[in-house]
Amino acid sequence: MNQLAQWLLSLIVVLVFAIFAFQLNLLTESGTIAAVLVGAALFILPADPYAGWAWFVLLSVFFLSSNAVTRFGKARKEQVSQEFAKGGVRDLAQVIANGAVPVLLAALYHVSPNPLIFTTFVAVVAVANADTFATELGVLSKSKPVLITTFKRVENGVSGAVSGVGTLAAFAGSALVALAAVLLISVPALLTGKIEFAAPLGVPLFFTIVVFAGVLGSLADSLFGATIQAMYWCKRDKKETERKIHKCGQKTLLLRGVKWIDNDVVNLFSTIVGGVVAAGLFYFLA
Ligand SMILES: [Zn+2]
Repeated sequence: MNQLAQWLLSLIVVLVFAIFAFQLNLLTESGTIAAVLVGAALFILPADPYAGWAWFVLLSVFFLSSNAVTRFGKARKEQVSQEFAKGGVRDLAQVIANGAVPVLLAALYHVSPNPLIFTTFVAVVAVANADTFATELGVLSKSKPVLITTFKRVENGVSGAVSGVGTLAAFAGSALVALAAVLLISVPALLTGKIEFAAPLGVPLFFTIVVFAGVLGSLADSLFGATIQAMYWCKRDKKETERKIHKCGQKTLLLRGVKWIDNDVVNLFSTIVGGVVAAGLFYFLA
């Protein structure tokens, strides 16, 4: 297939995917446009015709599975998630928070197709998935979580809170992405005898690095959530919240953290932590 036909086909796949996601109310309007740009970049930048599919498919695995866990147990989560700044419909900032680093890595891979970059990309996606799994399934935990910094018991859904259920869920979310990546690099390798991405590592080590970096990134997310993320206080309800305007209509006061560091920025930071950990491990072990 020539380059142009390939690009057009990629664009059609991305557009169909984005329109379905918008119709299913998984993305806002601005989120849909950003998702099309991210999807197209992941298709086109990695250059190798097969590599593009792997990058796009992996980000789609994250998008679909994280949406599934967001919707899981929705009724029980309703009360807890009222204090979250955002609901389950992904907007522009959320797509950028999860898509910017992958696109940057795809651009780097375009310049220098290197398995270290692909492994870093997979780890970045694993962090995003681990974090969503931990947040969305962790809040369903019956026992109260503890704050990652002080180990004091806090309410469900508080930024920086960790629980056994949440950490297990982080493992599951990270392992799902790692497994999808292994399948994506193994199946074509079986068909064509060409295994390039993780070849210097071997599948078990590749899998372990990605899962480890994913879980570590999600713990970094909790740590940032408990320390630098902006948290607000509603005077009227005497409640801690991520919202600048509380659900009761009251303007909230900055309680702790840094004003511009919201949940999306924390997500971006934690994917960078996971990516750096994976790149470092790959560099020293491969
Ligand atoms: Zn209030």
